[in-house]
Amino acid sequence: MQGFFDTPIEYLKGVGPQRASLLNKELGIFTFGDLIQHYPFRYEDRTKFYRIQELNDEMQYVQLKGIITRKSLIGTGSKKRLVAILSDSTGTVELVWFKGIKWIQEKIAIGTEYVAFGKPALFNNKFSIAHPELEAFTTKHEQGGYLQPVYSITEKLRNRFLESKIISRLQHELLILAEPKIHETLPEKVIRQYKLLDKKTAIINIHFPKSLQLLNESLHRLKFEELFYIQLRLLKLKLVRKEKYRGKIFNDANLVTEFYNSFLPFPLTQAQKRVIKEIYADMRSGQQMNRLLQGDVGSGKTIVSFVCMLIAIGGNTQCALMAPTEILAQQHYKNLSRLADQMHITMALLTGSTKRSERTSIHEGLRNGSLKILIGTHALLEEEVQFNNLGLAIIDEQHRFGVAQRSKLWSKNTDTFPHVLVMTATPIPRTLAMTLYGDLDVSVIDELPAGRKPIKTIHKFDSHRLEVNGFLKSQIDSGRQVYIVYPLIEESEKLDLKHLMDGYESTCRAFPDAAISIVHGKMKPDAKEFEMARFVKGETQIMVATTVIEVGVDVPNASVMVIENAERFGLSQLHQLRGRVGRGAEQSYCILMTSYKLSADSKKRIQTMVRTNNGFEIAETDLQLRGPGDLMGTQQSGVLDLLIADLGKDSQLLQQARDTAGKILEQDPLLEHAENQIIAQQIQRMKKSTINWSRIS
Ligand code: ADP
Ligand code: MG
Repeated sequence: MQGFFDTPIEYLKGVGPQRASLLNKELGIFTFGDLIQHYPFRYEDRTKFYRIQELNDEMQYVQLKGIITRKSLIGTGSKKRLVAILSDSTGTVELVWFKGIKWIQEKIAIGTEYVAFGKPALFNNKFSIAHPELEAFTTKHEQGGYLQPVYSITEKLRNRFLESKIISRLQHELLILAEPKIHETLPEKVIRQYKLLDKKTAIINIHFPKSLQLLNESLHRLKFEELFYIQLRLLKLKLVRKEKYRGKIFNDANLVTEFYNSFLPFPLTQAQKRVIKEIYADMRSGQQMNRLLQGDVGSGKTIVSFVCMLIAIGGNTQCALMAPTEILAQQHYKNLSRLADQMHITMALLTGSTKRSERTSIHEGLRNGSLKILIGTHALLEEEVQFNNLGLAIIDEQHRFGVAQRSKLWSKNTDTFPHVLVMTATPIPRTLAMTLYGDLDVSVIDELPAGRKPIKTIHKFDSHRLEVNGFLKSQIDSGRQVYIVYPLIEESEKLDLKHLMDGYESTCRAFPDAAISIVHGKMKPDAKEFEMARFVKGETQIMVATTVIEVGVDVPNASVMVIENAERFGLSQLHQLRGRVGRGAEQSYCILMTSYKLSADSKKRIQTMVRTNNGFEIAETDLQLRGPGDLMGTQQSGVLDLLIADLGKDSQLLQQARDTAGKILEQDPLLEHAENQIIAQQIQRMKKSTINWSRIS
């Protein structure tokens, strides 16, 4: 069934084939429905006229009313410009045009009253507005102003004159046709409960707000709806899985008891114990576990994952642990094999660089069931990796993997899916977790092992390097080890590599008595491994590296983390790097080196790091600063391409939407009740319209 909103955009009055193709390519707008959902990203306030004397150069956009008293052409060649003087009873301002001069010059009439709109700038103590919008003052303006929508467009659209104003005009054309076709998409009960605006009014006012209040109510309504349907989908997925996917039942805890009694290297924290209980409850429930394990850096997720493996092995099955990088996989292998060896449990490491002969015997052991634990990178996903009976799949630092990869690991078993535990490297903000992992149950380790001294974080300018080096020397002299980390970002890879090598050389000069390791992504794996190993064994005192050491590396004797060009790192990355120290009993330090020149955002990041060690707090700040789309690795998931809601700002609304969706599914899991038909129908419509492959380029 082709509905009205599926009509190709080409057929809208004012569009046609050429504009349609531009809208397709540049904005992903293919249908009437796509256009109507291309909401403005901000609004210009045309409700108020400023007086010229009120202007200041911090103002973004202002609307002025006045008479043009003069116009003249100034300069020659590329400097040629048209200047018109606009004056009201309080002062004058220059309006300046560099382009389209001839046309505008003819249009402007001296002595006529105009409305000018633009961004004021201060030059030589005089205000001017470059390329203002100019309209003769009419009764339309007198009736009181309006909020003008601004639509996102691209450079190409601008060049082809498909500007925000034109999009607004198209929305106007579309709404004339669409208005009778817009029907409600939320149940009446929900609308009443949260006093939401009806859909039609909201759509009209999002494009043509009649007042600020109606605009705000429209935003609220549409955001709620968007979040509601996302949460409904996630919760439904969770429900369906719970109903449908049986899980192996593990209720033999003998191996765990043996481990606790004889080999536990330290007492577990209360939080670790609680989380293990939650996971064990899942694993014996008969339903497939899908659980997210969150915990701050250093909170001890690794040992928790090992205990869970013991539960699965106790039930005569195998375990897999997938890490995002080779170094991290090796680190896990090293740490866990110590524990596994004591328990006489077989374990192997499989990565891209595992030798052919070794692979063959790993494959063999997996198939006949003699190999119990397999640790590795995405090499685990290869076709030839076949388990005899996979009981538990653990995915570390999941946000680096795609959702598709996650499910690939599950399907390694054909009869029943293995239980799945996803662990994140750093905490993620609640709103993000609810959206990215909203279909999973969540466990949180909210406590660090006892005896940890909080890491002291210090900000130092590059000019204090001598002082910093002196401090490092004193730490090395007392037997500690030090990391010095340099940024390495793909776009400026060559330059960054040079900085790293320069840094390495100057470190060698500054510490002639120390042994120094260097590790970066351009090195051969075995050279990397060799250098890493030297540092881990304490043969070198300083490790100069790029962010390759970011995740997982664990050297308890390292007490100082120096981060060079700290302003270039994101917050969660800084926090993750800082988490490499503070793992032993000694006081640890994180020193953030920057130049004097810092942007407002960089300053905020550095200040946040200095203020707090709390990963959850840092994650929230990161979300506020960067927005969800830019947070590490989340771009790939697609779930965060929200049309209108903002996970950084709309956390309360998100909670409401999730609660509402949860309640509805609880009472009516299959959405069969009459009052919920509106939801069932909307889900059907959304299913149809979201699969538009031409959009995925
Ligand atoms: P993360 O959660 O960042 O993966 P790890 O599992 O690497 O943290 O643990 C960090 C360090 O803390 C490791 O050296 C680990 O052996 C140690 N550790 C974990 N749990 C405890 C505990 N309960 N008591 C003391 N040390 C612990
Ligand atoms: Mg870890």
